Amino acid sequence: MSLRMPESMDECIYFTRRKLENDGRIIAWVYRKTCPRCGRAEMGKPIDPKTKKPMIRADTYECPECGYSEPRQEHEESLNVEVIYTCPYCGHSGETTTKYKRKTWEGVKAYVFVCEGCGKKIGITKKMKEKKRG
Ligand SMILES: [Zn+2]
Ligand SMILES: [Zn+2]
Repeated sequence: MSLRMPESMDECIYFTRRKLENDGRIIAWVYRKTCPRCGRAEMGKPIDPKTKKPMIRADTYECPECGYSEPRQEHEESLNVEVIYTCPYCGHSGETTTKYKRKTWEGVKAYVFVCEGCGKKIGITKKMKEKKRG
């Protein structure tokens, strides 16, 4: 597998860069989905006709060309998060993809993928929350 890193944030509906313990790191993104109806444009949040800016709180994604729209959850669950990582547990560097859907991981919501080196689950949590140390 060879992932292509996005060249611009405009290509993505999600992008994050994280530093983890033990020199682990994650770069993860989700590309916009090409409209399944017209195939001519990438879908995104609907554009506010007044401000011409995407309405980030909208519950739908829309094609700017043909107006085709999908509910947010259905749309997001049809996408994949692409991940380039260095595992904080074993130091393995690799690439993988996982569903663009948060799961519960160590008690918090996260996009979860499995390290190809050691098989441990690694979560991309919602915010840069420090895990509590016991
Ligand atoms: Zn379209
Ligand atoms: Zn690992």
